[in-house]
Amino acid sequence: MIEFKSVGMTYPNGNEALKNINLRINSGEITVFIGPSGSGKTTALKMINRLEDNTSGEILIKGRNIREYNIHRLRWGMGYVLQQVALFPHMTVEENISVVPELKKWKKNRINKKIDELLKMVGLDSEKYRKRNIQELSGGEAQRIGIARALAADPEIILMDEPFSALDPVTRTGLQKDIKEMQQKINKTIVFVTHDIEEAFYLGDKICIIKDGELVQQGSEEEIIRNPRNEFVKEFISSGNKRGEK
Ligand code: ADP
Repeated sequence: MIEFKSVGMTYPNGNEALKNINLRINSGEITVFIGPSGSGKTTALKMINRLEDNTSGEILIKGRNIREYNIHRLRWGMGYVLQQVALFPHMTVEENISVVPELKKWKKNRINKKIDELLKMVGLDSEKYRKRNIQELSGGEAQRIGIARALAADPEIILMDEPFSALDPVTRTGLQKDIKEMQQKINKTIVFVTHDIEEAFYLGDKICIIKDGELVQQGSEEEIIRNPRNEFVKEFISSGNKRGEK
């Protein structure tokens, strides 16, 4: 379980990105951070693996302040998937997926087995894809490899920052469905950032609505729809229906 206790974050230039955030991210669930652009979602996510450090309050993982963990171990224990896939362009698919297992000094055949298993899990044929160069992949395939790589070293926690927002609607819907099915099998703790309320409701066991650096409301889809905290939440929920995407 990940806990934010009165967490605040002010960037060195004085931008106050987050204010007094209190939340709980349950193990084995998908928790979605959603809000308009600039509301602080990415900052909140990056603080979990210490790409940014909170400037007040504390973040706990399994009851321990994240600053007490060795920063490398903390990061190896978390998969990270970004909107623009940060795959290593000069390496093949299998080399990309092997990076963290190799850092963890896994044996070659354990890594090989894992690559097969992961490619299958993200819906790609291992024979066909493992030797491919990154440049030979479509956007959707690259994003699948990004997910496989994030899962490679069996992290307990996976951080996903708008992983599907650069994809066309059909690919995007397919990946959303795959992630949901995959999660039912692997049961990881996933923290997922999006600005799309439909995506949030589809994927999230719990949804945290953030606006101007503040946590406006957290709860399940049902709780939020049944009892929206204020006008902003009401409007935000209905914006998904109006847009009519997907
Ligand atoms: P979101 O992910 O919701 O779009 P961000 O977490 O990226 O929001 O940004 C929250 C706020 O912090 C914004 O006002 C943004 O301009 C500011 N911000 C983000 N990164 C930096 C940075 N490196 N330095 C200063 N301000 C930043």
